Amino acid sequence: MSGTLQPETLEFKAELKQLLHLITHSLYSNKEIFLRELISNASDAINKIKFDSLQHEEQLEGNKDWKIKISVDKDAGTLTVSDNGIGLSRETAVENLGTIARSGTRAYLEALKSKEVRERPELIGQFGVGFYSAFMVADRVTVLSRPAGDPKNGVKWESTGQGEFTVEPYEKPTRGTDVILHLKAEEKDFLDTYRLRQIIKKFSDFIEHPVVMEVEKEVDGKKTTQEEVINSRKAIWLRAKSENTDEEYKTFYKQIAHDFRDPAKWIHYTAEGNQEFRVLVYLPAEKPFEMQLGGDYDWGLRLYIQRVLIMEHCEALLPPYLRFVKGVVDSSDLPLNISRELLQENPLLSQIKANVTKSVLKALEEMKSDEYDKYVKFFGEFGSILKEGPRVDFGNRERIADLFLFESMKTPAGQFTTLAKVVESLPPDTKEILYLTGETREQLENSPYLEAYRDQGVDVLLLTDPVDEFVLPSLTYKGKRFKAIDRAETSDNVDASQKEKFANLLKVLKEKLPEVSDVRLTTRLKDSAACLVTEGHMSAHLERLMHRWGKGDEVGLAKRILELNGAHPVIEGLRTLVEANANDPRIETFGRILYDQAVIAEGSRVKDLGGFARRINDLLLSGLKS
Ligand code: ADP
Repeated sequence: MSGTLQPETLEFKAELKQLLHLITHSLYSNKEIFLRELISNASDAINKIKFDSLQHEEQLEGNKDWKIKISVDKDAGTLTVSDNGIGLSRETAVENLGTIARSGTRAYLEALKSKEVRERPELIGQFGVGFYSAFMVADRVTVLSRPAGDPKNGVKWESTGQGEFTVEPYEKPTRGTDVILHLKAEEKDFLDTYRLRQIIKKFSDFIEHPVVMEVEKEVDGKKTTQEEVINSRKAIWLRAKSENTDEEYKTFYKQIAHDFRDPAKWIHYTAEGNQEFRVLVYLPAEKPFEMQLGGDYDWGLRLYIQRVLIMEHCEALLPPYLRFVKGVVDSSDLPLNISRELLQENPLLSQIKANVTKSVLKALEEMKSDEYDKYVKFFGEFGSILKEGPRVDFGNRERIADLFLFESMKTPAGQFTTLAKVVESLPPDTKEILYLTGETREQLENSPYLEAYRDQGVDVLLLTDPVDEFVLPSLTYKGKRFKAIDRAETSDNVDASQKEKFANLLKVLKEKLPEVSDVRLTTRLKDSAACLVTEGHMSAHLERLMHRWGKGDEVGLAKRILELNGAHPVIEGLRTLVEANANDPRIETFGRILYDQAVIAEGSRVKDLGGFARRINDLLLSGLKS
């Protein structure tokens, strides 16, 4: 060690400081996950050097007795996790241990603060704050490391988790990392080897490298210590299904997905044919927290080639609309010594992807038919993502669409129909599946656009997921297109005689109401006197959403068409007024009230609320006087 150099003191990134505080102060259950996180890091570090050495064998330095060692020093009160993995240099230690290299940290912090204290441990477990979880049990953490192939660049990193850390050069004889936890006074039971052994079995049993501890043994009456492998190292995906218990499948899921909840379902099989590979994939029960944040999210399957982990998040193995799927693919046929970049383009990978996609779709179909309630919950979590499918995966378009659940006019609130059922209920020559989008089921149910369809007994999908606005217009299902019922018609069914009868009223109202682009007669209404419709693709609902998302400038506010129900007594009354005296001031007042009512029915806001109230009051007064 170069004794003349003082350790350099550096600060954690600001957000990390707050996160550390939260981690160390708000967790009082499930603390033991810190060991899982450190062992996972050690295992990752070994996988990294294993992978690198495929191309640069000299990096191994003859040291490939892969091992993660857990040791305790009762006198010093320390617990150490050591590995002979890739190691850290001064630069990589500062970079990787001084920041959380994930976007969404800020959002995560906000979410964490707003949660009840007792919910926080789960959240943290889910997010996988990794290395920093050490500060739950340690008041000081020392990392001694030396990178592969660079014996001179060893580092000692140290921090009390209070916002600062120090780094200084350190001479370490062997490659790899020791993470030394100086346990807090109240956490000394983590020095108990029996307890440690239980924790390793519980959380890290499937780690593929041996996790060892020194244990005392009596040999010929003499006490000695021996290294013992604690984990079973089962590559669970390589074993036959019958050899794995449900509990083992669940534990493995939690380890790879950093999820504390059980998965909804798993799929485990061996594909044989032009190439051989094993697949063990899971459908999570609920959205991982990182996905809820909406920031960057690492997805993809773990790709092994002959048991060597090649990539942790291989996106080439899944289509993006299945990005919630977690799991492992282990191939026997892909070349081991290939760069990750070239690997992504390997045609064998797209074959595996197509195969995994089909299996996942099949599993979803089975869940939908055999475990419907579970599927409803699953679709509530991931349906919006699945809905991206038909647009990008043309071959599986209808299969994916068959997995969709929608509420409709004929389903009770909170219950669902499927596209297959809707199509079955349509008269044979119908070319379109009808839908209406809006904020809530209640708003949709009371919408005037449904009146005529309700009368005719035709079903209409009632949609509140914003994604539907983007998905349905480009979708066809069993040859049928999707049609929003709140748009202007290109042709109407209104009689010519009716048109003539109301021509003056329409003309006068159009003059009095410059906010609309046209005033027309319609047959879509039964109980309502008037409604507004839009032209083109954008619904009023989407327009409102865009404004809420800060994209108002891009979409503006499209002028509506005011449609009138000629069979309604109010419209007939107005017509009589116009015919008697087209300059009667009440025409404009009543026209405006009709327009504002239609604005409300559309789910939008009346602009001139004062004027609206005044006009209604005048109307009330005139009613009271007569
Ligand atoms: P994650 O493992 O999710 O990336 P961590 O906070 O656990 O996040 O670790 C941050 C980074 O520190 C890792 O990505 C890795 O680069 C580095 N690191 C942690 N532990 C080790 C280790 N034992 N050996 C080498 N590098 C490590």
